[in-house]
Formats: sequence, structure tokens, C-alpha cells
Amino acid sequence: MIAEHLPRIALAHLPTPIEELPRLRQALRDEVAGMPVPRLLIKRDDQTGLAMGGNKARKLEFLVAEALQQEADTLITAGAPQSNHCRQTAAAAAKMGLRCLLVLGGPAPMLEGGNLLLDRMLGAEVVWVGERDRSAVMAEVAEKARRAGGRPYVVPYGGSNAVGAAAYAAAFQEMHQQASAWDLEVDQVVVASSSGGTQAGMLVGARAMGSRTRINGISIDKKTSNFQAELVALADATATLLDLELELPMEEFIVHDSYLGGGYGVVGEPERSALSLLAATEGLLLDPVYTARALAGLRDLVRRGHFREEETVLFWHTGGLPALFAYADLLGPGQ
Ligand SMILES: *Cc1c(COP(=O)(O)O)cnc(C)c1O
Repeated sequence: MIAEHLPRIALAHLPTPIEELPRLRQALRDEVAGMPVPRLLIKRDDQTGLAMGGNKARKLEFLVAEALQQEADTLITAGAPQSNHCRQTAAAAAKMGLRCLLVLGGPAPMLEGGNLLLDRMLGAEVVWVGERDRSAVMAEVAEKARRAGGRPYVVPYGGSNAVGAAAYAAAFQEMHQQASAWDLEVDQVVVASSSGGTQAGMLVGARAMGSRTRINGISIDKKTSNFQAELVALADATATLLDLELELPMEEFIVHDSYLGGGYGVVGEPERSALSLLAATEGLLLDPVYTARALAGLRDLVRRGHFREEETVLFWHTGGLPALFAYADLLGPGQ
């Protein structure tokens, strides 16, 4: 098993299910007139548990294990006000009896809904960055905890270092084994990509297993030219951690950056429309920031003939659903 020698605690409900999306496939056929539409599957990492699911649960199994090994008593991490990573870190801390400090971007919002409401319920202490530099505030918060006699462990942004990404190398293996049991090969994966640990880890997992599956990252907030080098470095570090000797050339890190819209967390028509489409055809929900943008990307790639009819394409759902309730005013009827 990939990553079996790394310390790990059980936080996520695994394996997550894989399901077919036949009605989405039909709906896409109806709208693209003549373009090839592949077989579509979905991997339900929105169902990992740990306070409402998402991809960070897998990473935290390894990251929090490392924190415990270092005898930490406090987890510190950072993110946007609606960070799913922060919410799941707060849940992991609560479950393991650790203190949790969250450094959140910007000023305190007027209404604390969605993930932020859950952060509070889970007992996390929130520090607002305001106009200051996020990394500087993180360092300051860690230093203060240390001076107070605590043993803080800093979880990197998005859980994306080699330890966190290793979880997605293992996740790829999980998916590959499920697909093999169904006697099918996944030709391409489509996944939301932001801090990069999910995509980089998956590629390491795929190549470690000798699979040629293409991993398409739908970039949420970065241009391809900036992001690809980060992904390569992260994947190299992950392969090293896992004792794997892999050649991972830059062009294997497929990043689609045509869907950045108004930027991070700005919900536009493509996101709203993708969210409604999946809800109406399959009864499945997406989050407004990551997975709706990723499905909008998949939909556009189909339109542009990116896939072949006989291919199997797996949409990897990375979670984020609590954010729906923080964006209600942008998603409701009449928008
Ligand atoms: C964090 C997150 C992602 C992006 O994963 P990275 O490993 O940061 O690239 C995608 N979807 C959701 C819902 C997330 O919370």
C-alpha cells in the first residue's frame, strides 16, 4: 500500500463511494450537439465525514498523526474565512483533544455562517489577519502559543506539503482498486486544484501504480504558468517521502486556468449553472467555490471536445458543502 509506512490516524470514512452520472452525461449530450461525451463517474470525497466531509480529511489523517508524534497539543493553520481546510482541522483537533487556532484572511465578517459557524462550534479560536501578512500572523500566533507553554504544530496552508499530499497518492490507489474491481480503467480525472496537494498527490499515486490516468486540475485561483512549478516541487517532495523513484515532467501536471472567473471565492454564472445542473440531473450538491468551478470546467472541456466518447472520466468531488450556506444570497432563485 502506498504511504503505509507513514504515521496515520483514522479520521475519514474510507473508501468513499464511486457512482455513475448517467443523467449528467445525457444532459451534456443534449447541450453539446455532436461532441463526444465520455462515460462519467464521481468519487465522493464530499462524504469523508469529519464534520461534513471534504478532501482535507484525508490529508489530516497524516498531518495530525505527525503532530501527535511530535507531542503537539495545539494545531495552528490558516485559510480564507470560508476555509474547508480550517473547518476540518478544527474537527480533527476536537476529536484528538488538541487546541486549535485558526488564522483567517481579511477582517471579521458581519455574519458568521457556513464553515465559520462550524469552526466556532468545533471550539477553534479564530485570529483575523486584517491588513497584515498572513504568514507573519501565523508565526506570531505560534510563538505566542509556545511562550504560553504550549506545543504548537503548524498545518500548512490547505494541508499541502508532502505529508498531506501523500494522502492523495494513497487516495488514487484506493480509487484505482475500486475501478479495477468494476473491471474499468479511468482515463482521466477532473479535480478542483488550489493549494495543489490533491492534484500533486494523485499524480504521484497514479504513476507509482504504473497508471497512465491523466489528472486534470481545474485551477481555482492561479494561472498555469505560476502553478505548474509548485505542483512539480510538491510532487517531487511527496515521491521522496514515499521512497518512490518517479520521473514527473512538468507537462504531466495538467492545469486548466480558463475558469478563474472573478477570482477566488467569486461566484459567477458558470459556477451557479454547474451547481444547478448536477443538482437537477443527479440530486448531488457541489460547493460554490471549488467543485462548482471544477464541474463548470469539465462541462466546458466536453464542449471543446477534450474527451473521447469511449473514455471514462472521473469527477473527483472534493467537498466544501458547508460554504453553500455562506453564499446563499448569491445562489438562491432570481440570481
Ligand atoms: C481545499 C479544497 C480543494 C483544493 O485542494 P488542494 O489540495 O488545496 O488543491 C478543492 N475542493 C475543496 C472543496 C477544498 O476545500
